[in-house]
Amino acid sequence: MLRRVLLGVSRSPQIKKAVSAMPVSSGIVARFVAGETAPEAVLATEKLVGNGLNVTLDHLGEDVTDLAAATATADAYLELLKQLSEAGLTAHAEVSVKLSAVGQALPGDGEKIALENARTICLAARNAGTTVTLDMEDHTTTDSTLGILRELRQDFPETGAVLQAYLRRTEGDCRDLAHAGSRVRLCKGAYKEPESVAYQDKRAVDKAYVRAMKILMNGDGYPMIASHDPRLIAIAGSLADRAGRERGSYEYQMLFGIRPEEQLRLFREGQTVRVYIPYGEDWYGYLVRRLAERPANLQFFARSLISK
Ligand code: FAD
Repeated sequence: MLRRVLLGVSRSPQIKKAVSAMPVSSGIVARFVAGETAPEAVLATEKLVGNGLNVTLDHLGEDVTDLAAATATADAYLELLKQLSEAGLTAHAEVSVKLSAVGQALPGDGEKIALENARTICLAARNAGTTVTLDMEDHTTTDSTLGILRELRQDFPETGAVLQAYLRRTEGDCRDLAHAGSRVRLCKGAYKEPESVAYQDKRAVDKAYVRAMKILMNGDGYPMIASHDPRLIAIAGSLADRAGRERGSYEYQMLFGIRPEEQLRLFREGQTVRVYIPYGEDWYGYLVRRLAERPANLQFFARSLISK
């Protein structure tokens, strides 16, 4: 309930303006966001990779409303990939891209612009020796994002997809994408969605997550289990064993700043673990989704505002 209210209230331009005025270094923002620049993101990557983890980097921003901003996002990814390559990190660092940040929502040719920008990023990633995963946004974009993924995979079959367990359609999408060479990140889903398309109850979402994991673990693709939920992490391990999967034929993924000890524990158990590192100036939407996931974060956030 709180999550839905917060995600709704966060659309207010006044609230966005007030919160965005906070410095990125302030407590709550710095906990979830690695910084505003590529060098800061590379530094965070170096630290995590030094501890045995892998990363995927997200240049923050979404819902761009003009062509120049979409191009600027693509350019930011090219610069990031260059810096990761120069630092010798691309064996352990890939990038995550939101199609709405590279033009998907632009009127008219939006999908085509997003596809071309994503293609440019995929090519740069391949040349740097790494891969791209397309993040998944709200349900109105799912068909478009999966359509662009299909097109991209013709030239870049290594491109990863994200599926959201809370969507009623996701089991079907898992079946479609559980084929050899297909990398699929499974998450619960972070947006405010209507009942008609998404399970609302936490237990129903968890059950749907387990059903989706079964399909992915028993399939021929590469499942990426993106969750901090201890129960789901344990179930993922059992399902992988039961499906006869070796370690390294699937991976765990968690967000920067969330359950870092668990990330290291899984690594010490011999699992592949990837941390999703967001960076950039446009951190508002990302921060609100993280706050909405956990009431305790809100208290921390309130304290950050007061001590500003
Ligand atoms: P929850 O039930 O929310 O949390 C389980 C436990 O994890 C909590 O009890 C708490 O201990 C800890 N925890 C979880 N969230 C927080 C938090 N914010 N602060 C502190 N502790 C927390 N969603 C999308 O819709 N599209 C995407 O493309 C997408 N990509 C993602 C990529 C990665 C690598 C990850 C890990 C998540 C991604 N998400 C994405 C977000 C995801 O959908 C969930 O909203 C988020 O992961 C919280 O769900 P959970 O599975 O961790 O379970």
